Amino acid sequence: MAFVDRTARSLLLMELLSGLWMTLRYMFRPKVTLNYPYEKGPLSPRFRGEHALRRYPNGEERCIACKLCEAICPALAITIEAEPREDGSRRTTRYDIDMTKCIYCGYCQEACPVDAIVEGPNFEFSTETREELFYNKEKLLANGDRWEYEIAQNIALDAPYR
Ligand code: SF4
Ligand code: SF4
Repeated sequence: MAFVDRTARSLLLMELLSGLWMTLRYMFRPKVTLNYPYEKGPLSPRFRGEHALRRYPNGEERCIACKLCEAICPALAITIEAEPREDGSRRTTRYDIDMTKCIYCGYCQEACPVDAIVEGPNFEFSTETREELFYNKEKLLANGDRWEYEIAQNIALDAPYR
């Protein structure tokens, strides 16, 4: 009996038809996949992506060269050198992050008293060479300029929980 049943199902292409029926049903359901990179999923304001150095609205860099981020970094990825300016303020002359060492722990951002070094929402950065992952101050400030709007929004959203 089972043989007859199996043969009849094969001859009537029942498996093929049930597969097509399933395809038809899923065509009209909401899609669970995203068409990346044209569509992107939601990202938490606490997401720790590529680093950036921020400026104040008047263009002055926030970092005061206190070196707390350098001291707390568990991967020893940050290197800072500083000297006083003519006006007496202290600013960095060198701010490097070795992104090949960074483990994206976020401690540098937590330690910074002026929200200067932050981990922004950019998770899509890539390089062709290893050397390009040695970020210097110019690169970090440029990242800050590019992502300031998103970074400021994320900090504001996270502020009630800090
Ligand atoms: S995220 Fe962590 S490992 Fe990376 S630079 Fe900051 S403190 Fe260092
Ligand atoms: S980024 Fe922040 S913690 Fe690091 S040296 Fe500058 S002010 Fe200090």
